[in-house]
Amino acid sequence: MIDIELTPRQKRIIAIVKEKGPITGEQIAELLGLTRATIRPDLSILTMSGYLEARPRVGYFYAGHDNRSLWLERLRDLKVKAYHAPPIVVLEEQSVYEAIVKLFLEDVGTLYVLGKDRLLAGVVSRKDLLRAAIGRQNLEEVPVGMIMTRMPNIVTVTPEESVYDAATKLIEYQVDSLPVVVPKGEGRYALEVVGRFTKTTVTRVFVALGREAPV
Ligand code: ADP
Repeated sequence: MIDIELTPRQKRIIAIVKEKGPITGEQIAELLGLTRATIRPDLSILTMSGYLEARPRVGYFYAGHDNRSLWLERLRDLKVKAYHAPPIVVLEEQSVYEAIVKLFLEDVGTLYVLGKDRLLAGVVSRKDLLRAAIGRQNLEEVPVGMIMTRMPNIVTVTPEESVYDAATKLIEYQVDSLPVVVPKGEGRYALEVVGRFTKTTVTRVFVALGREAPV
């Protein structure tokens, strides 16, 4: 909603619509003791700035703050579990070469690395692999575990967290991807990887919301 300085008459119109909506322009004018033509510009301004909503043949509704908080509520209600993609993983002892091949084959930017227990051990991103590739090592002999970012320094998200909170983590920690995890077994860092949440996920949700279609 655009913040505009409202005139006393516009404020009275909002109060009337809040109380009596849906209500026609005619009826509002009548309650104010004015003509429909006089209040027409006010109604246009209030509709365009998002305070009121006009439905043909029904009349005006109050759409201001209520609508906005509904929208925010809806945004925070979207859960990671409804949108995340499957995880793409490699094992810690697999080679950097194998990781690069997987990155291309799976068309992703980040791989999650699993330890011997098959739990989250680390993350390798495009740049980690590029860095290793411009070094002089033999990529088939270097295990991915040697170049990955390691637990407990991995930023993760759970299926129950909101898309909004997950997107906030992507921005805050400046990473492209978060492993979606659930606790498994003993210990704070014993995490099973069940999905991937990436900047692409956020973009997909954003576009679908704009279309008002199911994501
Ligand atoms: P890029 O390689 O395109 O820069 P990122 O920005 O995601 O990709 O990665 C930057 C660095 O952060 C890399 O070293 C990577 O290992 C690390 N990283 C990526 N994702 C995470 C994460 N979820 N938690 C912690 N570190 C991460």
